[in-house]
Amino acid sequence: MTSKTTTPRKHAHPAFPGPGHNHVACLSQTLDRAKSAFETRGLRLTDLRLRVFTEIAASHHAMGAYDIIERLGAKGTRLAPVSVYRAIEALTAAGVVHRLESANAYFACHAAHASQRQHIVLSCRTCRTIAEVAAEAVFDAIEDIASVHGFKADTRIVEISGLCAHCVEKASQ
Ligand SMILES: [Zn+2]
Ligand SMILES: [Zn+2]
Ligand SMILES: [Zn+2]
Repeated sequence: MTSKTTTPRKHAHPAFPGPGHNHVACLSQTLDRAKSAFETRGLRLTDLRLRVFTEIAASHHAMGAYDIIERLGAKGTRLAPVSVYRAIEALTAAGVVHRLESANAYFACHAAHASQRQHIVLSCRTCRTIAEVAAEAVFDAIEDIASVHGFKADTRIVEISGLCAHCVEKASQ
């Protein structure tokens, strides 16, 4: 351990990848997880689904459906919007892509949801990086509050906008 030269903050927030991180490695892990998610469900990760997924997973940002269509179009893949929507739907159903409800956009799941832990979404308004973090206490509190009011919750979505540690650090420089 080199205690003096390393800044402890660098690795203190593993959910948020650093701006200069090796995304190639990230992407290949994410692709592997997507492939096995489709396999386990007995579904096919078709060429179209894979192309749409690769586009979304190219960054840790959320992307609107039209952005995806445009990006694919720029690469010479002209697709009917409905085909792209269907691919997004399949990817979302398989759990490898999530919808950022507050922005009507989609992002690739870079968190390994091996456990059933529920996640909240942290979204940086400066670098637009999105991270999912486990937050069971938050969902327990939601259950408690709902039950106090005799309410049976179906959808529990917690999306928080703000600044990631990297952007906080940059802003303070
Ligand atoms: Zn990455
Ligand atoms: Zn996820
Ligand atoms: Zn940021």
